[in-house]
Amino acid sequence: MDCIFCKIIAGEIPSKKVYEDDTVYAFYDIAPQAPVHILVIPKEHVLSCAREIGAEHGALIAHIYEVMARLARELGLEGGYRVVTNAGEDAGQTVLHLHFHMLAGGQLGAMA
Ligand code: AMP
Repeated sequence: MDCIFCKIIAGEIPSKKVYEDDTVYAFYDIAPQAPVHILVIPKEHVLSCAREIGAEHGALIAHIYEVMARLARELGLEGGYRVVTNAGEDAGQTVLHLHFHMLAGGQLGAMA
């Protein structure tokens, strides 16, 4: 599969890793939209888009949010953070491997 995030997980494309476990990988976005911009993704290419999420993915999605909360504590993001998932063309999704943007590091602007 020609997926840039799968290549990052496989180590074929370099990334700035911030967290990894059996099911989840987190790394800094190459084009940050906030002082801290981390992408949190499932290691397996289980879904291309959040539009495909079903009840069977509940444990995975909960784990991803748990990882983000842990990262916020570890990175000292006491002020909070924003989680964004672009789902589909209208939202501007460019990479078809489920991912969550974690934005933080200061007062964030209003959402579109
Ligand atoms: P989206 O537009 O929601 O699909 O988000 C895809 C994100 O992946 C964008 O914010 C890109 O900047 C980011 N991105 C693309 N290629 C890389 C890469 N090689 N390393 C880190 N982030 C990347």
